[in-house]
Amino acid sequence: MIKKLIGRVLSGKIFKPRTPRAQVIPFKSHGVAREQISKCALSVTDTLQAKGFAAFVAGGAVRDLLLKRAPKDFDVATNATPEEVRALFRRSRIIGRRFQIVHVMCGRETVEVSTFRAGHDEEDRENGNAKADEHGRLLRDNVFGNQQQDATRRDLSINALFYDPATQTVHDYHGGVADLHKKRLRMIGDPVTRYREDPVRMLRVARFAGALDFEIDPATRQPIKELADLLSNVPPARLFDEMLKLLLSGHAVETVKRLRKEGLHHGLLPMLDVILEQPLGERFVMLALKNTDIRIRGDKGVSPAFLFATLLWHEVLAAWKVIEAEGVPPIPALYRAMDQVLQQQAEKLAIPRRYGGDMKEIWALQPRFDQRAGRGPYRLLELPRFRAGYDFLLLRCESGELDQEIGQWWTRFQDANADEREQMLLPESAGPKKRRRRRKRKPGDATAPAAAQEAPQP
Ligand code: ATP
Ligand code: MG
Repeated sequence: MIKKLIGRVLSGKIFKPRTPRAQVIPFKSHGVAREQISKCALSVTDTLQAKGFAAFVAGGAVRDLLLKRAPKDFDVATNATPEEVRALFRRSRIIGRRFQIVHVMCGRETVEVSTFRAGHDEEDRENGNAKADEHGRLLRDNVFGNQQQDATRRDLSINALFYDPATQTVHDYHGGVADLHKKRLRMIGDPVTRYREDPVRMLRVARFAGALDFEIDPATRQPIKELADLLSNVPPARLFDEMLKLLLSGHAVETVKRLRKEGLHHGLLPMLDVILEQPLGERFVMLALKNTDIRIRGDKGVSPAFLFATLLWHEVLAAWKVIEAEGVPPIPALYRAMDQVLQQQAEKLAIPRRYGGDMKEIWALQPRFDQRAGRGPYRLLELPRFRAGYDFLLLRCESGELDQEIGQWWTRFQDANADEREQMLLPESAGPKKRRRRRKRKPGDATAPAAAQEAPQP
């Protein structure tokens, strides 16, 4: 009994280390001015503070401002409850079931306001106050807390910073500012426990390492390889959201390279596992990611369906080959392969149905680019999905899967005038269509090839 007690004292379970106090960093040290905060976020913090609540800009926006990057959006953390926040802003609504947050709208901007939340420490877990599955994954973390607890439940030290626009100070409980200067990613608390609570944190570490070009602290990096399998317990829809964030971060190439360097690409990116092992597949995916990164950095829209179609193309190709080898004609075989690949990925990644349809359209167009005779090319040009299909074709050429010549032909064909187009068309030599048409024009023609003679009448 006494031994057990001493053990618990030594392991810090009874006399826990002092709760961290915030280091309050003044404007002159960090240089982030109130004007750098969006109008909407300022109005939210000002209003809450005027009513006597604590309110800070929190999380990614503070990190990005300290790194002199433009934040994607602004989140506010406060000690006001969701109902109290809701009551203060006319254009606001409470969302979420597990943990409620409030969306406050000003014009086209939306600011997410969350109430300080407590994570679960060892003691809670021992007392059974935290609900976790058999792998330690938290199923419930919806307990309000104070600012310090809210900092501690966050993932990385650099993501646990608060900015008070009224005093222009940064509040740092976990050495996040020092880590920003050192370009270091450090998980708050014991990394193994934190990954078990929420395996998605491993993907987030990889994403930030790639996007920020930061080093991963050894204790934060070391357990990932071993725990990567836990990602298979994460609900597919959540994994899909995180994958999308990673792929649309504008730094997908660096992130995937980083994953591979750390040996983390297995399991962490389920859909890339197989593809990155094949040289052609890898070239194709890396080219697609590079194109996506360039578009995102240039503020051009990207289509997630297009991106996922590229990521899975080589799986489709492989399945297509197998099905064709079983004697199924090419086009039905392609359709079967597409369904098979989408079905497999749905189980792992919950690619939403609306993307599945678009992806299939892009894939199904590919064999049609082979037809460069007759009316086919004109009909293809008219299709609403032509552009996506053509961009996809160019990637296939660039990656070495197809001859560059076919992509160049389609590039020229689009720009050509009517006469030039007619001249570009390939002669309708081989192919069942042509044979059939000739038979139609000249029904008893003795010179028609034997195969055509035997073909059924259209
Ligand atoms: P981004 O710029 O990509 O939005 P972010 O850090 O703002 O990055 P969000 O997903 O918007 O990421 O999350 C906001 C904040 O919530 C994070 O900065 C972090 O403090 C906290 N957070 C998000 N996901 C987790 C998680 N899985 N575990 C712990 N804290 C998290
Ligand atoms: Mg964010």
